[in-house]
Amino acid sequence: MALVVQKYGGTSVADTERIRNVARRVVERTRSGDQVVVVLSARAGDTDRLLQLANEMSPDPDPRETDVLLATGEQITIALFSMAVKDMGSQAVSMTGYQAGIITDGRYGQARISWIETLPIMEKLHESKIVVVAGFQGYDDAGNITTLGRGGSDTTAVALAAALGADVCEIYTDVEGVFTTDPNIYSKARKLTRISYEEMLEMASMGAKVLHIRSVEFGMKYNVPLLVLSSFTDAPGTLVTKEDDEMEKVVVSAITYSKKEARITVTNVPDTPGMAARLFSPISQAGINVDMIIQGSGSIPGRANISFTVPRLDYEKTVKLAEKVAGEIGAGAVHSNPHIAKVSVIGLGMKSHSGVASKMFETLARENINIKMISTSEIKISVVVDEKYTELAVRVLHDAFELDKEYHGRLEIKEEVR
Ligand code: ADP
Ligand code: ASP
Ligand code: MG
Repeated sequence: MALVVQKYGGTSVADTERIRNVARRVVERTRSGDQVVVVLSARAGDTDRLLQLANEMSPDPDPRETDVLLATGEQITIALFSMAVKDMGSQAVSMTGYQAGIITDGRYGQARISWIETLPIMEKLHESKIVVVAGFQGYDDAGNITTLGRGGSDTTAVALAAALGADVCEIYTDVEGVFTTDPNIYSKARKLTRISYEEMLEMASMGAKVLHIRSVEFGMKYNVPLLVLSSFTDAPGTLVTKEDDEMEKVVVSAITYSKKEARITVTNVPDTPGMAARLFSPISQAGINVDMIIQGSGSIPGRANISFTVPRLDYEKTVKLAEKVAGEIGAGAVHSNPHIAKVSVIGLGMKSHSGVASKMFETLARENINIKMISTSEIKISVVVDEKYTELAVRVLHDAFELDKEYHGRLEIKEEVR
């Protein structure tokens, strides 16, 4: 008998019929002898609708109350799902984040799970019940409801799997696994049989929303086998697992994109020690994550231009902060562009092979796509381009690295190294 944590995303539980279908799958699984903990998202679109309600109510919705509101989306699905299971003659019990003992820090809207009190769930499992947990939510030390950030139900599932010592965590979604790029923007995207945690982490950080970043971090840290698969078909999915020698042979595994970015440039910053700290401290204190940073010479000698990217959601707030600091330190104008996108090429094999960057830049140049910023890590190269080129960039890079083929691009790149 295996202990399995299964997570179903918003599209998989979008209406009563789909909820019933998923309930049927889960009941069948328990009848084959497995114990199942189910983690559910809100119905597709519900979290957006709740956010919209908050914005209609207030120009700057209170973060604590926003989390109380957002957490209701998942409460609907866990209740409906449990009703469906009971109607099928099995036992189920729904649990909110609080009831399931999911303790987080107090950062509303982006809380991190710090501890899971597993006893309440274990007790229900021992009573042979299907435990149905609300994803995306927990509570802090003071008992306030918190949410984990958009897409956070994946993290609830993987954290629970780690805490309960589950044999596997299955993430059911609307595509059949992790693909070489978003299958919804390129039909030549190929499903991967396996991918390393490390690559998946880069993919999630660089915009592949199929898994929430924190869920991959938990998986990697606690070595939870993660299976990504479709709730609509029985096709085998993608296993996210520890890297091995075979995986390292693949130079490029995937292309990702993120349109949720904005770029800000502070011009003619005095080129003296401490200026970057003056600029970025208030931004980080406001809880805004700066991603790429580039410093170049300004138009005045002894001055520098500093460009950086932030999530588009934080764009206006960041521009205001940057303008304030620019005034204080005597820098020049602040330019900004909220219509940029980040496109990344990811692969474990980049650790030992070169030639990927030049191939990426040449491919984009051939299409006249201007690269505005570049950043790299051991297994990733990211570029910032105009948002309107996103899909084109993804497709030409996917073609150039031949990701539609099982054994793509490897030899050619080795040749370039020699
Ligand atoms: P869920 O509601 O089940 O959590 P999400 O919408 O969060 O589902 O994630 C699934 C979506 O992720 C897919 O529909 C797909 O458009 C997108 N996606 C982006 N990149 C990839 C990728 N490399 N492989 C698979 N899906 C991807
Ligand atoms: N319902 C939340 C969202 O839409 C969490 C999730 O689906 O994972 O972001
Ligand atoms: Mg998701």
